[in-house]
Amino acid sequence: KTICVTGASGFIAAHAVKQLLEQGYRVRGTVRGTADKYPYLTSLEGADDRLELVQADLLTNGAFDAVVEGCEYVLHTASPYIVDVKDPQKELVDPAVKGTTNVLDSCAKSTSVKRVVLTSSIAAITDEPDSNKVFTEEDWNTKSSLSRNPYYYSKTKAEQAAWSFFDQNTSLSFDMVVINPYMVIGPSLGPSLNTSNKIFRDVLSGKYPTIMNINWGFVDVRDVAKAHILAMENPDAKGRYLCANEVMTMKEVISFLKESGYNKYPLPMVNLASHWGNKVMKVLSYTQPKGSGTYMRTHIGRTMRYDNSKIKNDLQIHFIEARQSIKEAITDMLQWKHLK
Ligand code: NDP
Repeated sequence: KTICVTGASGFIAAHAVKQLLEQGYRVRGTVRGTADKYPYLTSLEGADDRLELVQADLLTNGAFDAVVEGCEYVLHTASPYIVDVKDPQKELVDPAVKGTTNVLDSCAKSTSVKRVVLTSSIAAITDEPDSNKVFTEEDWNTKSSLSRNPYYYSKTKAEQAAWSFFDQNTSLSFDMVVINPYMVIGPSLGPSLNTSNKIFRDVLSGKYPTIMNINWGFVDVRDVAKAHILAMENPDAKGRYLCANEVMTMKEVISFLKESGYNKYPLPMVNLASHWGNKVMKVLSYTQPKGSGTYMRTHIGRTMRYDNSKIKNDLQIHFIEARQSIKEAITDMLQWKHLK
């Protein structure tokens, strides 16, 4: 069986490619550069015989027609994950939304595709944790916009466009399952530092002078890749899957880094995870670029809670512990020299 993975070069997608090859699948991955740019993919076990890398532009109509033909499943992961951009419509929303509808259009024309697994995000569920609420797959982000958390907006718009594609085309011969990961961390197969692992690089390199009252729901990159494959293989998989393990506060992350012997790094000392600290940090957020500033204002002082039972029950995922993923992410960043 051949599986198409869009954005195969990415942090999450590369792990999906690796796991698919390990399981004996053939993989057709889409990338933006020529194959020689991705030795971490072409040197994977099984790649010589079963990995094909092709170029396809998210914004070009019909660019995926030939790519998805012959593939039984399509994992659509390609989408820009950047927080601070100059032109959010052009840099985030257009490739996210148009890329998704283009891929779906091509799948509809194909004679082979049975299911698309779309990489959406927690961003399509909410951009504003609510300490009094437990989020589930039923929730939708209704607040993001081009000026408020634009990356979140792009993910919400892309997932909505995908579901409305299925509402409007009722006689399709394929279905869709959506994975909504939270903060994906862990070892990277390739040399680039993706946006979610970057928070550890930034914490360890002194970018954050203070501990803020924020928290993240972590999930290991290998589990996210596995979730995509299980969602693809399991005929009963349905709808959206919130994909996250445990929540850790920034304070817990810093304590863990100290206990783990990372004291030589300039870890934040000042603790502003308090009522007044929240107010101070919200004022300071206006000095940050728009994407980071709105993120701070919509997250500081709010505790995220969610129910991850659907993915655990339906896909039988047993998540790797966040502390283990953090350690491996850091070891990996040292190896790639993102950290000294
Ligand atoms: P990466 O930045 O590592 O991967 C993004 C992938 O998308 C890369 O292959 C990249 O190609 C491709 N891409 C980005 N912009 C374009 C574009 N304009 N045209 C074509 N390809 C493009 O990030 P992740 O692996 O973390 O993210 C993968 C997916 O997972 C995204 O959809 C992201 O929104 C989603 N996600 C990620 C989370 C996380 O915490 N990491 C959490 C929730 C969802 P290239 O290598 O050429 O840049």
